[in-house]
Amino acid sequence: MQIIHAKQGLMPDGWHRDFEVAIGADGRIAQVGPQVSAPTQRVDLLLPAPVNLHSHAFQRAMAGLTEARGPDPRDSFWSWRRLMYQFLDQLTPENVQTIAALVYMEMLEAGYGAVAEFHYLHHDVGGVPYATLSEMSDRIIAAAIDTGIGLTLLPVMYQFGGCDLRPLQGGQRRFDNDPDRFLRLHGAAMVALTRGPADFTGGMAPHSLRAVDPNGLREMLEHAPTGPIHMHLAEQVAEVDEVLAHLGARPTEWLLANHAVDDRWCLIHCTQMTDIETDALAATGAVAGLCPLTESSLGDGIFNGTRYLGQGGRIGVGSDSNIQISLFEELKTLEYSQRLRDLSRAALATQDRSTGRVMFDAAVRGGAQAGGRDNGRIAPGAWADLIGLETDTQWLCNRDGDALLDSLIFAAGQPSLRDVWSAGRHVVKEGRHIRRDAIIYDFTKMMMQLETRV
Ligand code: ZN
Repeated sequence: MQIIHAKQGLMPDGWHRDFEVAIGADGRIAQVGPQVSAPTQRVDLLLPAPVNLHSHAFQRAMAGLTEARGPDPRDSFWSWRRLMYQFLDQLTPENVQTIAALVYMEMLEAGYGAVAEFHYLHHDVGGVPYATLSEMSDRIIAAAIDTGIGLTLLPVMYQFGGCDLRPLQGGQRRFDNDPDRFLRLHGAAMVALTRGPADFTGGMAPHSLRAVDPNGLREMLEHAPTGPIHMHLAEQVAEVDEVLAHLGARPTEWLLANHAVDDRWCLIHCTQMTDIETDALAATGAVAGLCPLTESSLGDGIFNGTRYLGQGGRIGVGSDSNIQISLFEELKTLEYSQRLRDLSRAALATQDRSTGRVMFDAAVRGGAQAGGRDNGRIAPGAWADLIGLETDTQWLCNRDGDALLDSLIFAAGQPSLRDVWSAGRHVVKEGRHIRRDAIIYDFTKMMMQLETRV
């Protein structure tokens, strides 16, 4: 049994001092409170480690390759997406596993306890299925096992190149499934998940209203009676216009009018919603899956966080394109986007909780809900997804309670997270993932061989 002594920590009812957390052999928190045995570990600050609720792991390998001007008169999300399709067309299953291992190691070192992988790269070049239909899903699972991160695998259904139902082309063909083959692939991936640790789980992910037609979406949902449902919702203006032209309503309007959206749903981005849509989505209990660094990188727009949280809406954060992996930078970017839009300060704070505290509480709760993962709280029964920090640093030494979180998010730069546990697996020690050197060696070797002219 691991026993962590914390000088200070954030529990569901607020800050506590000098307590102990016992982690059972099953990876769950067994007890919180005084223990008979001596601690095996001491930390200054103990926080729940949230779920990273949205990732496309392979995109990490093209970070930094799309910041120059291309042939288009104006670079945009859509020109970036063309480059991404060219880049991914060279990736083998081995490459995907190597990239995912690096990405999951970085996520753990950044303080995420688990990841919801929105996985759509299913087939070989040209859309040819692998001998094992779930080959690429199996590689994602293998990378999660290698790194020890908790996994919610979301195999993605992707049918069309747009709302006009045009066929997929080029790199996109590697995503292609009709509902029948998708359900077989999904079933195989869910079986493969059971070979991982007990905290691994899965869900369903229709890619977007651009890539799945109304019939395909209905058929998928009929085969998903339980578990999380994730979908990209309203990211770009052109996407909203396309859905409006073909389905007769904006994406959020259409989804809420045609499906019983509830707390099983996680809608990714939501950067293009009207005030009426914002209020309506907040009322459903679904999680808005925000990816502020990627949304900034791709020029998606600003999520209306002040209004959505004011209406009781639930949020979580994800690293999406993985241009950079930093839990605290995601939260800072979310808050700063609200300030820049509204010319305000402490935009998401409430009377009794600071900005950092509001966002961190929301991210752990929303992440747990979206990931279908029983974590996000230092309490008996939950998976032991935990972050341990030292506070005798120049930025944290005289901070306390909410000000500790605010200093971590807004002031500390790259904060030194010393320990991270995922379902009790102590995978980050002294600020380094336990397999760091081997994972970076493999990744670097692969990167030297990848085509970078995208
Ligand atoms: Zn995405």
